[in-house]
Amino acid sequence: MVFSEKKRLFCIRLWLRRRHLLLFSFVYLAPILFFHSVTGAVAGGNCVSLDEGLSTYNLDGAVSYYEDRSASLSLPEILDNRFFSWASLRGAVPSFGFSSSVYWLKFDMCQPRPEAESAVLEINNPLLDSIDLFAVAGRTVVYDVHTGDSIPFSQRPEKHHNFLFFLPSFPEEALSIYLRVQTRSAVQVPLQLYTSTGFFIHNQRSLLVQGGYFGIILAMILYNAFLFFSLLEWPYLFYVFFTISFFSFQGVFQGFFQQFVFDSAWWQNYALLLFGFISIIFANLFADSFLNLPSKNPVVSRCLRCIGVVSALAAGLVFAGPSYALMIKLMLALAIPSSLLIMSAGFKLWWIGHLPARIFTLAWSTLLLSFVLASFNKFGLLPRVFWTEDIMQIGGVLEVVLLSIALGERINEEKRQRILAEQSLSSSLEEKVRARTLELNQALAQLETANAILDKMSLTDSLTQIANRRSFDNHIEIEFKSATRGGHPLALIMIDLDHFKTINDTHGHQVGDQVLQLVAEILCSFATRPRDKVFRYGGEEFAVVLFNTPLPGAIILAEKMRRAIDSSPLTVQGESCVVTISAGISVYDPTDEVLSGSDLDDLIRQADSQLYRAKANGRNRIEAFGMDNKEA
Ligand code: GH3
Ligand code: MG
Ligand code: MG
Repeated sequence: MVFSEKKRLFCIRLWLRRRHLLLFSFVYLAPILFFHSVTGAVAGGNCVSLDEGLSTYNLDGAVSYYEDRSASLSLPEILDNRFFSWASLRGAVPSFGFSSSVYWLKFDMCQPRPEAESAVLEINNPLLDSIDLFAVAGRTVVYDVHTGDSIPFSQRPEKHHNFLFFLPSFPEEALSIYLRVQTRSAVQVPLQLYTSTGFFIHNQRSLLVQGGYFGIILAMILYNAFLFFSLLEWPYLFYVFFTISFFSFQGVFQGFFQQFVFDSAWWQNYALLLFGFISIIFANLFADSFLNLPSKNPVVSRCLRCIGVVSALAAGLVFAGPSYALMIKLMLALAIPSSLLIMSAGFKLWWIGHLPARIFTLAWSTLLLSFVLASFNKFGLLPRVFWTEDIMQIGGVLEVVLLSIALGERINEEKRQRILAEQSLSSSLEEKVRARTLELNQALAQLETANAILDKMSLTDSLTQIANRRSFDNHIEIEFKSATRGGHPLALIMIDLDHFKTINDTHGHQVGDQVLQLVAEILCSFATRPRDKVFRYGGEEFAVVLFNTPLPGAIILAEKMRRAIDSSPLTVQGESCVVTISAGISVYDPTDEVLSGSDLDDLIRQADSQLYRAKANGRNRIEAFGMDNKEA
């Protein structure tokens, strides 16, 4: 039962997690599926008629090509096409990969009405090295242009980031357009034909999109650079460098780099490679630090760093002028595994519920998807509608903005973790304080007990275990004051063992000690009232302090003690000892005229002198102050 409940919960959790992935897959795959179904709707026909009232003419299906492997044919030889035949394009866009051949492209244009607008041909690939365009009417070249990125931008006939050709108006007969293309980059010639009005409309919209795109990217770079300087968190710095290099890569790709930054043919070709490799390095560093891969996924982290190192070496190699095609292939060989590793690490963290990783993965997926869709668009698998042309820009902006949000979320996540850690730290601190307080209280209690024991020890005689001389001094002072205040008598009996030295001498000190213990026991057994107390005064001398006891009572008690000791022969270690005591008594009575004047010292001195009297009078007897030397 418990097991099935667990299983059910696991399935629900799995479904909830899967749900994100399903949603994700749907959102990203839907456009591909949709457009895949509508692609193929390309225009057909051999002659592009400019009389259809359109502003844009689709050349798909109208272009044929010839590959001149020797790269030696001239236009007249091409026009005199006895030795070869033109091939029709397989895809919608002329695309032949990397090749050292010269590609000749050809299409025919008819302009039946003389008042029809002149046409503009745009080649949306600023990376092509050399392009020659010839407009031929019959067998006469009526217009020819030479351009390409191997020519500095300032010397190009038309100052535009893409290659533009303002075709002449030639209403009398059909015009054949021949293009000779040679490039070290991929031979890809996306052609678009507009009327001049159509081109201006398209161009304004396109520049607005490009400007908006670069503006947003620039804002993100500045914003995150400020964040880096205030937070000093590495991911921000890597993000900024990645975005700058990616931004520059796009700038080269769109032709703006050569137009506005560096008007050099070498740079136009190699800057693309350079920024591409640098983008890979910073993308890897950013992913590594953002997702905290060294601790979360060390394997992926190591792979990304290795790819980063290879990219850095490749970026250095760019300056040595290697084969362009080889370097582009190397760039792809590094970029593809990098993206896959980053995505896999992102998905893994997403799976375990790391929110910043979700946004991060979404951002990368958006970028990759835009690359895929842009490639589809270039190869004519996607129709050319207003947004598919700018898909790279849309993907780039979404990526950069999402990554920026992810960075913010990462800070929030860290804050949450810190608060949790602080809470657990403070609760563990409280726990520690509680434990320490308990230990302290226990130690204090032990100290109090030890103090009480020490107190008791300091007031107890170690041999007889009755109160000692120190205790006597404290006690009698208190009792004396109490008697004075209470107006009741206080009796003191001083007791001394007779001829005790002889006992020691005869039986030894150990026996003497035991005799002292037995005598203390006997004396205590008579002091039964709560405030009566027996003390070992010193050596073989004892003192008994009797609360509220007049002289007769003290005499009776002292006599009882003397008799008890005298009558009971003490047996110690099998030997019987004859022990007797002598005692001297004095009483302080605040109500008595004679005795009320005496102080504590008098009381002790009188008791002492009575003891000496008892000794002098023969021992084993008691004497009391105020008894007129009468024997008790
Ligand atoms: P008197 O009848 O005159 O009191 O004679 P005495 O021998 O009792 O008196 P004295 O003052 O001459 O001797 C006291 C003896 O008590 C000497 C001392 O060795 C002994 N004494 C004192 N304290 C202790 C004790 O703690 N243990 C033992 N065994 N003997 C003690
Ligand atoms: Mg003595
Ligand atoms: Mg003695």
